[in-house]
Amino acid sequence: MDKGDLFDKFDDLERVLSVTLADVNAIKKELQETIQENAILKVENSRLRDRLEELDNKEKTPISKSQLNLEKIYDEGFHICTMFYGQRRGPDESCAFCTELIYR
Ligand SMILES: [Zn+2]
Repeated sequence: MDKGDLFDKFDDLERVLSVTLADVNAIKKELQETIQENAILKVENSRLRDRLEELDNKEKTPISKSQLNLEKIYDEGFHICTMFYGQRRGPDESCAFCTELIYR
C-alpha cells in the first residue's frame, strides 16, 4: 500500500467516524429528552394520583372516621362542642357549635 492509498483510507475512516459521531450525538440528545420527559411525566403522574385519591376519599367518606364518631355521640344526645362539651342536649335541641364540628 503506497502513501497515497494510506491517506485515502484515512479520509474514508475520518468520514465514517464523523458520521458515527453525529449519530451518537443525535441518539444522546434524544435519550436526554426522553429521560427529562419521563421525569416530568412521573411528577405529573404522582400529582394526578394524589388528586385522584383525594377525590376518591371525598366520595367514599364524606366525613372522616373521627367526625363519624362525633356524630354518633351527638346523636346519642351529648354536646361534642368545646362550649358545652359532654353536656346533655335537650330532646329537640340542636347545637350549631356541635354541627359545625361534625360537618365542617
Ligand atoms: Zn354543642
